[in-house]
Amino acid sequence: MSDKPVVLMPEDIQRIMGKDAQRNNILAARMVAEMIKTTLGPKGMDKMLVSPTGDIIITNDGVTILEEMQIEHPAAKMMVDIAKTQDSEVGDGTTSVVMIAGKLLENAEKLLDKKIHPTLIAKGYKIAAEKCQSILNEISLKISPNDEGILKHVAMTAMTGKSAEASKEKFADIVVNAVKQIYHDGKVDLNDIKIEKSKGEGIADTELISGIVLDKEKVSGDMPVVIKDAKIVLVDFPLELKNPEIDTKISISTPEQLQGFLNQEERTIKEMISKVKDTGANVVFCQKGIDDFAQYLLSKARVYACRRVSRSDMEKLAKATGGKIVSNLGELSSSELGSAEIVEEVKHGNDCLTYVKGCKNPKALTILIHGGTNHVIDEIERALRDSLGVVASSIKTGLVVPGGGAIEIELARRLRHFGQSLTGREQLAVEEFASALEFIPTTLAENAGLDPIDILTELKAKHDSGEKNAGLNLFNNKIENVLEARIIEPYKIKTQAINSASEVANMILRIDDVIASNGKGNSKARMPSNIGEYD
Ligand code: ADP
Ligand code: MG
Repeated sequence: MSDKPVVLMPEDIQRIMGKDAQRNNILAARMVAEMIKTTLGPKGMDKMLVSPTGDIIITNDGVTILEEMQIEHPAAKMMVDIAKTQDSEVGDGTTSVVMIAGKLLENAEKLLDKKIHPTLIAKGYKIAAEKCQSILNEISLKISPNDEGILKHVAMTAMTGKSAEASKEKFADIVVNAVKQIYHDGKVDLNDIKIEKSKGEGIADTELISGIVLDKEKVSGDMPVVIKDAKIVLVDFPLELKNPEIDTKISISTPEQLQGFLNQEERTIKEMISKVKDTGANVVFCQKGIDDFAQYLLSKARVYACRRVSRSDMEKLAKATGGKIVSNLGELSSSELGSAEIVEEVKHGNDCLTYVKGCKNPKALTILIHGGTNHVIDEIERALRDSLGVVASSIKTGLVVPGGGAIEIELARRLRHFGQSLTGREQLAVEEFASALEFIPTTLAENAGLDPIDILTELKAKHDSGEKNAGLNLFNNKIENVLEARIIEPYKIKTQAINSASEVANMILRIDDVIASNGKGNSKARMPSNIGEYD
């Protein structure tokens, strides 16, 4: 053998292995959970996030906080990912999923200390997660899309404790109405609901409008304010002369030549607009700019026009009005037109918005949020999105569960019972899984200033005596039947959270080697900085 050292990896690669890697990852993941813990539940606090440019977000929404924090630690990032998945799959429960995952890992550490192998813990967790699914299937409540009362309470539970709470009855009406209108054949596509915001007036003025609302005013004051029986052209090319991509020099030596050049420009624009008019359109939505002269010609023709409409709005308009987005002038014809009963400009405070109402497709809806400041409006939007998500999910699966920690306590109780039928060390893992679920009600209590141990003991006692809907009602701080108190959540919030949390915990547990590289030439590898601080 030669005594030359064997070099496997470049120098700037950092590596931690074995127990260190494991503990470091677990610690990072737990820190993420710890960070958002105080926001859980109706009595949870908000966080103020300030970006490097000074933008401020005030929120209580788990996924928003985590996304804004620019987390770098690889294991912590995995926690952020499950919050994102929860957000896209259900729309709510993002704090809960991270907290359960964090607690699963914290409890796994206790088992690691007892020298139980991580793969055994992972196996136990997997068994427990699967058992939870079957328990949930057994004890969830069936509802139909016509159970509006229940759906409204699902919507309100998602809004409790957020700034939307003050008007939650009204918002719940809006949300349930909106989702019911787009529900069809067991499917709900929340993209059919546009959320638009308008500063001024109070949040209680928020409204559901059937049709599309654009945050745009008509391009010229001379255009009509209202168009009835609208025939709509949608174009994604500019109604102006293109700026040449390369510098062009035009030599003009006489006034006639200059006039000729200007006339030529005018003629081109005139042709453009007459093509638009020939289609019979009385409304134009343009994704790009509209030239001053074109604006003048359109006004003269009594056409209503908006410019620089965003692509996503153009697509929504196409879907709603049945029109086609036309990409070049030659394709413009009356068969591409969309239609709506009314297009009008409506003034709210200082803003002018364009309403497109009575669309061909009745599924086109807009929730127009009003509010005094942008921070309020943004937080209302997040609450409404959560609410839309939970109502959509409840309608799709037709299943709901009691909130306020009731379902978690019942799951934990049944899991422990089931665990007794297992032998060996998996039983211990199932036990720890159950206690991780109890972290939700204890945190709800703690955040409300109640004694978590007292609450947990009382909840467990009630469940042992058969009250499976007993939960913590934070409207009156009592332990009671939370279904009767109308604290209701969708089934999917729980199945998704339990699945993702156990998957990510298991994935982190199985890692015993972290090899970090920051790419070529950069000697500072992205290794978690707190290595060694943990023991
Ligand atoms: P997440 O991001 O996980 O949705 P939230 O801050 O929205 O976190 O809190 C959700 C938790 O609050 C759920 O466990 C839910 O059951 C509970 N909850 C909602 N309303 C009430 C209430 N009135 N009393 C007790 N718990 C409630
Ligand atoms: Mg929530």
